[in-house]
Amino acid sequence: MRKKIVAGNWKMNLNLEEGISLAMSVDKYFKDKPLQKSSVILCTPFIHLPGVATVIKNGKVGLGAQNCASEPSGAFTGEISAAMIKSTGAEYVIVGHSERRSYYHEYDKLLNKKTTIALAEGLSVIFCCGEVREEREEKKHFDVVKRQMEAGLFSLTGKEMNKIIIAYEPVWAIGTGLTATPDQAQEMHGYIRGLLKIKYGNSVAEEMTILYGGSCKPSNAVELFSKPDVDGGLIGGASLKKEDFVAIAEAF
Ligand code: PEP
Repeated sequence: MRKKIVAGNWKMNLNLEEGISLAMSVDKYFKDKPLQKSSVILCTPFIHLPGVATVIKNGKVGLGAQNCASEPSGAFTGEISAAMIKSTGAEYVIVGHSERRSYYHEYDKLLNKKTTIALAEGLSVIFCCGEVREEREEKKHFDVVKRQMEAGLFSLTGKEMNKIIIAYEPVWAIGTGLTATPDQAQEMHGYIRGLLKIKYGNSVAEEMTILYGGSCKPSNAVELFSKPDVDGGLIGGASLKKEDFVAIAEAF
């Protein structure tokens, strides 16, 4: 059965105390809910990971980082390795977020390296893809997403793909208040699943969780998540408010 997931991406927000407090209240909310393990995930700043790991005690809320180094260890000042992330108790890492692609010039080959290393260290990867506004206007969005998938993921084996979650995030919808319509989201998610089917076969394609991200909020989550190939969301701004985040998770 394909897993439904709502993952929060806190980005560079909340100090340690605020982050721990938010994680505690999210964890408390889901304590008695009939929730599959890790169908709610919090992707926090690195420094929050060990503290948040100790307060998400119910085993229902999963924990992830927002980035990892492309090398396993060594003289890379300021970097955080996948193994370090894993050692905090986190099980997930976001790779290829559009903010990393654009502000830090993370390109396809590097993202493939990060993905490979994160998997080797035992993390699951939330792999982001998506086009910018001009690319959609020029009707290049399918080609862009295809290139990101092929270069970022398609060196992996079918078995490794079981540890991947894909997040389709049209860049023009991230943090802008603009949301892809449910039909636009479904169209791209169906396309992505089709690419997976051609490369890996039916089983990998059907089992793949494909999240939508981009100004998802309580008011549009139900409609987005009702689409057959939309298996949940990667939530930025709205994940910083417990009420909004849990309302989106409840939208399933
Ligand atoms: C994100 O950063 O992954 C995201 C989807 O942000 P927002 O929900 O704020 O658009």
